[in-house]
Order: sequence, then C-alpha cells, then structure tokens
Amino acid sequence: MIEKELQRYFGFNTFKTGQREVISRLVDRQSAVAIFPTGAGKSLCYQLPAMLLPHMTLVVSPLLALMKDQIDFLSKHNIPAARLDSTLSKEEHDHILERARNGDLKILMIAVERFKNERFRAQLRRMDISLLVVDEAHCISEWGHNFRPDYLKLPVYQKEFGIPQVLLLTATATEQVRDDVCGKFQVPKENVMVTGFYRDNLFLQVSPTPESEKLGHLRQRIDEAPKAPTIVYVTLQKTAESVSNFLRDNGINSFPYHAGMANEEREQIQNEFLAGKIDCIAATIAFGMGIDKKDIRRVIHYDLPKSIENYSQEIGRSGRDGKQSFCEILANRDSISLLENFIYGDTPGKEAVDKLLHKIQQHNEPVWETKLTALSFELDIRLLPLKTLLVYLEMEGIIRPKHTRFDEYMFKYQLEPSAIANKFQGERRDFSIEIFNNCQTKRVWTYVDMQGILSGYDRAGRERVIAALEYFSEKGWIELQSKQAIEAYDILKADFNAEVVGEKTIGLFEAKEKQEIQRIHNLVNFFEGDSCLSKRLARYFDEDIEKKHCGHCSCCQSGSAVIQRSIELPPLSTFSFSEMSREFFEIAGNYCSVLNITKFFCGISSPALIRLKAKKLEHFGVFERYTFLDVKIWVGKCLPRTESMKNKQQ
Ligand code: ADP
Ligand code: MG
Repeated sequence: MIEKELQRYFGFNTFKTGQREVISRLVDRQSAVAIFPTGAGKSLCYQLPAMLLPHMTLVVSPLLALMKDQIDFLSKHNIPAARLDSTLSKEEHDHILERARNGDLKILMIAVERFKNERFRAQLRRMDISLLVVDEAHCISEWGHNFRPDYLKLPVYQKEFGIPQVLLLTATATEQVRDDVCGKFQVPKENVMVTGFYRDNLFLQVSPTPESEKLGHLRQRIDEAPKAPTIVYVTLQKTAESVSNFLRDNGINSFPYHAGMANEEREQIQNEFLAGKIDCIAATIAFGMGIDKKDIRRVIHYDLPKSIENYSQEIGRSGRDGKQSFCEILANRDSISLLENFIYGDTPGKEAVDKLLHKIQQHNEPVWETKLTALSFELDIRLLPLKTLLVYLEMEGIIRPKHTRFDEYMFKYQLEPSAIANKFQGERRDFSIEIFNNCQTKRVWTYVDMQGILSGYDRAGRERVIAALEYFSEKGWIELQSKQAIEAYDILKADFNAEVVGEKTIGLFEAKEKQEIQRIHNLVNFFEGDSCLSKRLARYFDEDIEKKHCGHCSCCQSGSAVIQRSIELPPLSTFSFSEMSREFFEIAGNYCSVLNITKFFCGISSPALIRLKAKKLEHFGVFERYTFLDVKIWVGKCLPRTESMKNKQQ
C-alpha cells in the first residue's frame, strides 16, 4: 500500500532496508526512531509520511547545507517545502510563515536556534503540526558523543506546541543514548529501527603498539601500498603535523588536516585528497564530515578514537565502493589520560555555578542580558558547559531565552560599495545601498549603524541586515567582523532555592563526567574483548549479525589483544611540588585553587588559565599522562594549608 505512495510521490520502486518499518509506524500515528548509517535513506522516512499525515511536518536540522539539499530534492518532486533561515527577506520570511499557518506547506525546516526566538514561538502556536522530525538526534542526549545543549529542549517544545508525533533520525546511537532519547520523547522501544552497521569488506585490526614504536609501525604499514588512499587519525593537532611530516620525510605524499589550519588550506588539502592527488591525510576528528570518497583503502587510528561511535564513523569512511579495506588501531593505554583531561576540563566547579545563580537572583530586572564569552571568563566555565548550564536553568523554569543579538558589526570593503550593490537588482539593490549609506568608514574599518538602517528602511529587520552582511562576506566582497553576541533571557523565577538548584545542577554535570570517562574505558574494553570485533561493533549499535565469526577482524584471525601502558610514569611523590608550582603562584593571584593547579599540571585549558596565559609556563601539562584525580589528590596534599586558607578568604 505505502509502496504505491512511494512510487507516486518519489518514483522509487522499493524501500531501502528499514524505511518501510519506520514509515508505516508514522502513518499509524505513532512516533519512531530510525538509526541507519549515513547514506541509508533516513530523510525519506519523514518525507513520505509528511505527505500522508494531515498537518505539517516540522524538521529540525543542524546543518544549513543539509537542509538545502533536502529542499531541492522535495521541490523536484513537487512537494511544498521550505526552510526558514536568516538569509530570507522579510517578505519571503512572512510568506513562508503564512503558508505554514494556512496548511499550504507540508514540510518546514529550521535550525534548533530558531526556537530561541520568541516571535517564532508565537508563530508556531498558530500552526497545526503533525510531526516533529529531529535530524542528528543523538545531539539531544547528554550521553551522546556530540551533545548540543539546545537540543535538550526539543521534548519541551514538542509538548509546548502540541505536536503529537516525533521521528528521530541519527546514524549513531548506543543503547544508552537510545533509551535516553526514547524516554525524553516517549517513543516505545519497539518503534526503534536499527539497521545496516555491519560492513563485510572492512578488515578490523587491533595492533597493540608501544608509544615509541608507533611511527615505525605506521611507516611499515603504509609502505605496503604507499599510494593507497589513507586517513591516519590522531588526537592532537600537533600530532597531525608531526605524523604527516614524518611520513613525508619517508617519501609518502602526506598532508596534515586539523582545525588549527587556515580554512583555504584545509579545503585545498581535502579537495586534493578527494581528487586522488594526495595519498595520505594525517588528521584530527575535524576531518571527514560529509566526505564522499569511495576508494579510501585504509583508516589507521594512530591514537585512540574518542568513543566507539567515533570509531565506527571513522572506519566507516573506508571502502564505500565495497572493496576490501583495512582499518587498524595502534593501541596502548598511554593516551587515556589525554582523552580524560578533555572531559575533566568541562565540569564546572561548585563555586562557579553558585556564582551564576546569585548573579541571576540579584539581577533586579525582568530581562537579563549577557555576553557568553565574557560570562565564561567571569565564571571560569568553558563555553559549551556554560551553554549546557543555562539550558539546565531553563529546564528548571528559572530563565527563558528571548533572543540573541550582536552589539557591533564592522567590515572592510574588498569591493567598492557601488560594485557590491550592482550585483543585485530591484529591492535587493536598494536594500544594499541603504546599508552602505548608513555605514561609517573610519581609518581601517567601516562601522554598521544598525539603528540608522532600520529607521530608514522599513522592509527589513535586524536579522536581514545581518544576513545581507554575512552574504557579502561569504562572497568575499567585504571582510566582516562582529563583536560578541548578547543573549537576552527572561527571568521567570528569581526566588528559587539556590542551594537546591546548585546541588542538582552540579549533580547533573558530575553524572555526565562519570559517563564520559566510562565511555573511554568502554572503548578500551571493546578493543581488548575476546570475541569477534565486527560482531561486537554491530551489537553495540543493537544490530545482530548471524555468523559467529566475521573472519575479517584481528580477533577472529589471531585472538584478542592486550592493551598496555608503554610509558613508565614515576610516582607523583618523587616530584617537588613547591618548585614546579612556583611559576604558577607568581601569576595566579585569585586563581590559586587546587582545581586550577591540577588543571595546570594536567594541561587542561580553562578560561582562567587562558587569561593567565598559563600555557606558556614551563610546567603546563607536565602531568598530562597522569590520572587527573591522582594529580588532584597530590596537589591537595601539597598545597600548603595557608595558601588554600588565603585563597578562601579572597
Ligand atoms: P541519510 O540521511 O541516511 O544519510 P539520505 O536520506 O540523504 O541518507 O538518502 C541517501 C540517498 O538515497 C538519497 O539520494 C535518496 O534520494 C536516496 N533514497 C532514499 N530512499 C530511497 C529509496 N527507497 N529508493 C531509492 N533511493 C532512495
Ligand atoms: Mg541525513
């Protein structure tokens, strides 16, 4: 029956694996979860139901580019779909909302941030919506590997806007993430569909390798087929550089790739790799999203990946053409602390949370405006956990986001203003001229007078002016800079019990920290396990493969691996605390706490340590291979009582 509709709307003859099961549940007015690997056809799972359900389907997607592809596909099939984003003119924007209200639109796509806009929320209340779709739904779960705080509110929005059904789409979700998101959206377990993770053309090899032998091992491996397209994954940017240099010195056509490099350079390296002009990329996890190269023959993990999900995704980039490919991990336990330290740096201290709660309680106006980066420094909480913290407070009913705005925009002309305006016609041209007429050029920068533009031109809101500037900048016509965003919140409740809320919030962060540390240990256990790796990997994503042994993993071929530490670490008690910490004391002032000294020794960056420029000191990171908790205990013992007393009084 629904095959007919598939043919009618999209011209496809058969469903891909799993699609039918998901779609039929949605058509039966239930909620569902689809966990398929990339390319398996997740989008169709909402696109067809959107045509069969009575009201509109609202899709939340994290990437503008993904939305655009999907809208193009839908338009091609004459399905009324649109996306709301800030590049639209006011007329276009209003027109889409009107069509959504009238029921003319079957699919509306948005980014999650749009919910933060109170005017958009007011519009949503006036629409009839059958289905809420969340793409990349693992972002919802704090236990997921790519948690985005704003996603946490989606279950609340579903209720608030009375949307009866949800569909969650993701390529990665473990049992825990799955249970978590199912619980949050009340999706019954039997409506979770998982498929397609097992890959029979990938050989999975775990090679226990001492740190000192990794480069030699890597070289030998690559020499087996020096031209075979290869990705070498590493944890740190500096390792990407050093590994790539090493390979080049040994005659391999290799380049590094990491987030610390300039955009153009990265793009060029990526394109040349795709085109087969570069044989090997030594990359951090920054490399690979959306890469479509079919003939990658090797993925080598030089360091431990971040999680089993990351591992699965990263090896999944090899052998897309179905041909034999080789995935190897050079494993030891030496880098576990490095991975753990990323996590410890994200848990805010109790004082920081209390400080924020007080700040909110003492704010005497109904609207609280804050700049997140400044707040991050003030409280000494990294940006991502700070956003998480604010979402927690939102879920407690204490604050509610109103809108985001930037307080200052400035740019440098790369083209004459008239030349830029002449790229457009009609209203868009007038609008561009109006913008430039209201800008003031000083010595180097041209400053945007937002008020001036808005009062002189009633057909545009702030968002559109900003979108236009972004567009000019994207095209390279101007070089744009904006000063930090201001987040405005309504304070809904200021008389909450700060102690209770503080405890609860810290509890959430601590549970999250524990989970993430556990995730790393699960990863090592996974590589050490004594049964078929392919089978266990599929099992991890809740997929069963029938055969007992895949026959194409190191476990099936030569048994389980033992992963050990290879670097001998002298006990902490053999170090002199007073000598090593002296330089830190000299600069630290108020920041002299056990936590900060521990972070300093473990090489964990934080807003406070950035402000102190502690990274430049000799002993920053000297204990990066030690366990954070051990170092913390050691610091706690060594830090003279008087110092900590003094610290408390300040
Ligand atoms: P995912 O989101 O899971 O990565 P997409 O939804 O982007 O995958 O789908 C990948 C491709 O498969 C798209 O080009 C889509 O049009 C195509 N596709 C989806 N379902 C079917 C089907 N039943 N028959 C043929 N092609 C399909
Ligand atoms: Mg997709």
